[in-house]
Amino acid sequence: MTIEQPNPAGHLCLSFDFDGPSLWIMRKMASATPVSRGEFGAVAVPRILKLLAARDIPSTFFIPGHTIETYPDVCRMVVDHGCEVGIHGYAHEMNGLQSQDEERAAMSRSIELVTALCGAEPTGYRAPAGDLTNQTIELLVEHGLTYDSSLMGHDSRPYRVRVDDRLSDDGPARWGPETDLIELPWSWTNDDYPYLEFVAFRRMIMPGLARPDDMFDNFLGDVQWMVREVRGGVLTLVFHPQVIGRGHRLLALERFLDAAAELGVRFDTMADIAAASAGGIRFGLED
Ligand SMILES: [Zn+2]
Repeated sequence: MTIEQPNPAGHLCLSFDFDGPSLWIMRKMASATPVSRGEFGAVAVPRILKLLAARDIPSTFFIPGHTIETYPDVCRMVVDHGCEVGIHGYAHEMNGLQSQDEERAAMSRSIELVTALCGAEPTGYRAPAGDLTNQTIELLVEHGLTYDSSLMGHDSRPYRVRVDDRLSDDGPARWGPETDLIELPWSWTNDDYPYLEFVAFRRMIMPGLARPDDMFDNFLGDVQWMVREVRGGVLTLVFHPQVIGRGHRLLALERFLDAAAELGVRFDTMADIAAASAGGIRFGLED
């Protein structure tokens, strides 16, 4: 939906990274148990779509090509519910570990698959694990994407992505030129994964398993601050169906959405915010 002017209380973008098994394959954890955690994402997506449809809330899904090819029917449901679909790699590749040719091939393949799924080219990208490189930015610009959502340089204001920053430990940062690419920033603090997901890596435990209401208290605090201190801000939240799709977490999500709506924020797709921002609408002004 076209946004003519910012909503004074601000905008909330709900994004869902439908990683499926690709998240675990990328980590070389492709045995039956971790892959089944990814499979649960396909169980959770219809639940999430139903919950959002009941509240008429638009949303954005970032879907790896691997998920589209593995779960075509579930991905079709996402599109049929009117959700935006952005690209998220082919098999959740870490950009920094790919050669230029590998990254280029994965991005082209993911764009082709999302285009075939949606019948229109995607306009948005989120880097798997938020790993955005200079090379990735150049590829996104080359492909004419409107926005990225992998950086953390603000919380409530879209901004232009730069390339070729010069960074040294012997002098100040020399910022590179801005590109046409709009950044819709995220943060680990606004992401369900570190709060909720228990993962035993070989050398590290990520404990997760927080009470979802504690996580949503944090999210709601950011919404409250934006509503009070920022004019027409934009806050992006990141969810993963395989994480948020458990019963107690979905109930907490419902309570959060109702509380946020009461504060007067408007729910929008990231594509709509990015298009308005690219068109000159200024979100997220602070005194
Ligand atoms: Zn992901």
